[in-house]
Amino acid sequence: MHKNYVGRFAPSPSGQLHFGSLITAVASYLDAKRYDGKWLVRMEDIDEPRCIEGIDADILTSLEKHNLLWDDEVIYQSQQHSRYQDTLDQLVGQQRAYFCTCTRKQIKAMGGQYSGVCRDKDYTNSTPDTALRLKLDATLQGFDDLIMERFDVATSELKAEDVVLKRRDGLFSYNLVVVLDDVFQKVTHVIRGCDLIDVTPLQQAVYRALDFAPVNYGHVPVAAIAPGRKLSKQNRATPINNETPKENLVKAMRFLGFSFPDAAEFDSTSELLQHAVSVWDRKKVVKMPEIIVPQHESTYYSEPL
Ligand code: GLU
Ligand code: ZN
Repeated sequence: MHKNYVGRFAPSPSGQLHFGSLITAVASYLDAKRYDGKWLVRMEDIDEPRCIEGIDADILTSLEKHNLLWDDEVIYQSQQHSRYQDTLDQLVGQQRAYFCTCTRKQIKAMGGQYSGVCRDKDYTNSTPDTALRLKLDATLQGFDDLIMERFDVATSELKAEDVVLKRRDGLFSYNLVVVLDDVFQKVTHVIRGCDLIDVTPLQQAVYRALDFAPVNYGHVPVAAIAPGRKLSKQNRATPINNETPKENLVKAMRFLGFSFPDAAEFDSTSELLQHAVSVWDRKKVVKMPEIIVPQHESTYYSEPL
């Protein structure tokens, strides 16, 4: 096994696996296996109110039915709180993070971007209604995406605001936990959907501010029901049919831009996956941020809302 490659698939258990999430699972799996790496699964259930009980097991079953078998134990963000909190306590102790009481309305009055006014105030953990923010002084940087190639930050967005690490409601922020978990799990390559390409420069800034070296990123096209509307639980993505794994995988490969034999050409899912690993080539993935999928992938159009 390649010691220098650890990849991962990080679904949020707020809805079953659908064609859109299968794409990311397949792409991250194939990239990892192509480079003899490990492929991990992490349940991103940090936003617990949005998660549905049992969906994690459902997602894992779907992955298994597609022979997308993960290495090592699945980690759950909901069980990592004390590790996250330890990091926050350390950052506060080092004065690299600070408490902020600004409301959304106040931030809007600052022109929409947080000005950092609370940096020099002595709020503490016990001040009511505080968020915790990271001091971010460096400007955001563009990066070379493994799949989409160069991604540049718009000049107007170079200066990042001090990112929220823990929200006023006590929830750890996604931009914090995704970084801490990728570091904790020794992830080296993040292959995920293009809907997250815009936040990558910010996440890389968080890595640097915490003295970690950023990892490699590759973003694949997102399946959408209409321009700008990613296939998701909110627009009722049809759950993946676990009875037709070979067909689903072929569809995923063709979506990603590969010419791929029909499912009937393969005796088993594992044989099909082996072939997929052998043809996987980052350069061949379609360089489009989103691709509109047929309407049957979502019941959004056929059922009254
Ligand atoms: N949990 C995120 C999602 O389901 C993915 C985060 C990531 O891959 O970095 O959209
Ligand atoms: Zn503030």
